Parts: sequence; C-alpha cells; structure tokens
Amino acid sequence: MRLSNYFLPLLKETPSEATIASHRYMLRAGMVKQDSAGIYIWLPLGFKVLKKIEKIVREEQNKAGAVEILMPTIQSSSHWKETGRYDAYGPEMLRIKDRGDRELLYGPTNEDMITDMFRTYVKSYKDLPQTLYHIQWKFRDERRPRFGVMRGREFLMKDAYSFDVDLESARLSYNKQFVAYLNTYDRLGLKAIPLRADTGPIGGDLSHEFLILAETGESKVYCHSDLLDMEAPGSVMEKDLQEVVDSRTSFYARADDMHDQSKFDEIPKDKQVVARGIEVGHIFQFGDKYSKPMNANVQGANGRVSPVMMGSYGVGVSRLVGGIIEASHDENGIVWPKSVTPFGVGIINLKVGDDDVDRVCEELYEIFEKSGIEPLYDDKNDRGGQKFARMDLIGLPYQIIVGPRGLKDGIVEVKVRISGEKKELSFEDAVNYIISEYEV
Ligand code: ATP
Ligand code: MG
Repeated sequence: MRLSNYFLPLLKETPSEATIASHRYMLRAGMVKQDSAGIYIWLPLGFKVLKKIEKIVREEQNKAGAVEILMPTIQSSSHWKETGRYDAYGPEMLRIKDRGDRELLYGPTNEDMITDMFRTYVKSYKDLPQTLYHIQWKFRDERRPRFGVMRGREFLMKDAYSFDVDLESARLSYNKQFVAYLNTYDRLGLKAIPLRADTGPIGGDLSHEFLILAETGESKVYCHSDLLDMEAPGSVMEKDLQEVVDSRTSFYARADDMHDQSKFDEIPKDKQVVARGIEVGHIFQFGDKYSKPMNANVQGANGRVSPVMMGSYGVGVSRLVGGIIEASHDENGIVWPKSVTPFGVGIINLKVGDDDVDRVCEELYEIFEKSGIEPLYDDKNDRGGQKFARMDLIGLPYQIIVGPRGLKDGIVEVKVRISGEKKELSFEDAVNYIISEYEV
C-alpha cells in the first residue's frame, strides 16, 4: 500500500475522552472513529488488525475441530422466552420491534438461538460431539461503555458452542477449547492466564476467564507467578488434554470476585502476583441449562434420551485489538506483534522526487509485495521528522528508511520498532533480514 493512496486519518492531538494508551493510540493512529457511545467505525488500519486477529482465532478454532457457521445479529425473542432469559437479561439487551410489532433483539450472545437450531437436526449420540462457532457482532447496552473498543456496545466476538451426549465427553470439548485459547493468545503475542471464574448469568458448572495483565485492566488478578512463565501447549493429543488443562489450573489464579485470601497466602511470597487484567476470553460448561428448557434432547448409546450437554466459549475479538496495544506500546506509539501487524514493513522515502531514492523505494516495495510481507510505503512529500513520528505511531515492527546520503554508499537503514535499534545495511541485506524475520 502506498500511503498516498491510503486512508490514514492521523490525529495530532489526543482526544480528551481517551484515558488509556490503547484508546489514545487507536484514535491517533486512525484505526477507529467513534460514531456514538461504544459504537465504532473501523477505519482501514484498525480493520486490518481486526481481520488478522479474527483469522488467527478462526485458524485455532478449526484446528481444535470446531466448525464455523454464521448466525444473524438480529434474533427473535421467542428462543429467549423459552429459556427464561428474555426477562432475566436486563437493560444490557437491545430490544427492538419490527413493523408487525414482533419482538426482536440485537443478540448479546447466542446460546438460545443455537440450541434451537441444534434440536431441529440432531437427535442422536451418533452425530456428537459437535462444536460450532461463529464470529459475529454483538450488542450489549453496557452501562458504561469506555476505553474505546475494550468495552464497546457493539463488539465482535467469537462464540463457540459445544454439544455432547454426556458430561464426560462435554469435559473433553471444554478442554479442547481451553487449549485452543492458550494457543490463540500465544499467536497474538499475548500471555493470557486462565482464571477460575464464576459462571455468572450464563450459569453452569465450570468456567474459566482468560486475562492478559495490564495496569489499565478492569479486573484485579491474584495468581501464582509460574503461570506467567508457561509456554503455549501447541497441538495436544486427545488423551493428553486433561493433563495439559490440569497443569494450568492447578495453580492459584483468581479474579477479585472468586478470590480466597487464605489460599493465596499459601503461595510462597516471591511467587505471589497481584495485578490487574483485561478479560479477553471466557469459557463455560453449563450442562443442560438451555437444552433442558428447550427440550434439545439426544439419544445416548444406551437408548436413553436426555438433554444434550453444552458449553459456550467466547473470545473478545474487537477487545483484543485494544488489549494487544495495552500489552505492547511505548511513548511513541503502538508496537505490533508480527502476527497481527497491519503491514509487515514500513518504507520511508526521505526524498520524494530524487530518482535514486524513488527507484530503490519502488524496488523494495515490489519485493515486499511479492513476498507477502505487505509493505506500507510512505511516498508522501512530508518532512522526515513527520514521517518518522507517524511510522512509530502506527507501530509496524520494521521500517526501512531510504535517503540520498545512505544511498551514495549503497546503504539503507533498517529500524526495529520494538527496540529502536537501527542497522545500516546494503539493499540485499536489508531485504533478506526482513524476509527472514517473517519466516517461522
Ligand atoms: P465483561 O466481564 O468484560 O463484561 P463478560 O463476562 O460479559 O465480559 P462474555 O459474555 O463471557 O463476557 O463474552 C465473551 C468475551 O467477549 C469477553 O471475554 C470479552 O473479551 C468480550 N466482551 C464482553 N463484553 C464486551 C464489550 N462490551 N466490549 C468488547 N468486548 C466484550
Ligand atoms: Mg459483560
């Protein structure tokens, strides 16, 4: 992408409503524009990151055996009345009437709808287990939308739903999602900690929240520090799933509402972590909570008919855009992890109109385009200082700076955003270095 063709509306001033880094930088870097409270337009740069996160979430869901569908944003109230949630949900639910005075709602979540869909088709253990997911916009009329996309009213969520014939098999489905979550956050460059959670309004038996540590997080976290040092499990065989989950859940890790100070005190002092965190995912196993009132029954191998056992699994896809920035920024702007960066490399032309500089920049541009490392080429006729500042602000992991002085000696400059380190390299070395950084 050439900056001269792109739509990148940067802000010089920090809008006063933005009190945390991610919100500030998302506005300043032209990633989103608020349209009304908690509702955002995703501008090109923000949209690109959102899509990259979505892709990683999708790939890890697919690897875990979940199957993608797409349910509508607008739901009929009828399923919610069957489960009793229409009245229970409260003012967070946006209730709408159509022209025929029928009650609709903008979905805050999809348990009720998917349970209805499921019971239409599946009646036997032979078609189980099954986990279905979608990545779809939700609406919750939050009391206090804030921190930009972190607590929006309209937000993008991956929500998966598992269906099993009995609790034992449901546990396996839960564990698969648990491991998929660890791998997903790892690929996003995040350290996410699974905390034992309250099951809340979704209800049920077993639940974990996944939090990333950040000073601006809304939750208080108490945990064992060894959890922060654990690597993502990668692909795990079915027989080893429980062990992997146990290895993470044996450590004390709780949010405020589930905190037990006496248990926490048993952790050696130098291993105690008290911090704040951002909830980026939440998984539940809730058995027959919805299948029972909805008569979503299946026949087991023994011939017995009983409600299907369910779980649901949410990832805050749009919240993660802000969450990643909270976890990775400095005083100059965002520092994107390679896996979700909107562009792989920024090319800065320090003298637009100079034949040699233009030619070298064009060659770099072409090479990176071809190699799939999407370049963003700053071909605008602005001052160097302005170019450096905006490239730092938008946070691409690598920059190549091309100016007439270096070129005289056949040299370009590569800047590594995260460390600020600068290397003077030949054209070939610069290209090879950046390409090799993106090879895994
Ligand atoms: P929170 O406690 O932050 O309100 P929740 O418990 O209501 O979250 P879930 O219903 O489990 O959240 O939704 C799954 C995920 O969706 C959450 O882990 C979070 O990452 C994301 N999410 C929930 N509410 C919002 C929101 N208002 N804006 C952006 N993301 C959200
Ligand atoms: Mg909530």
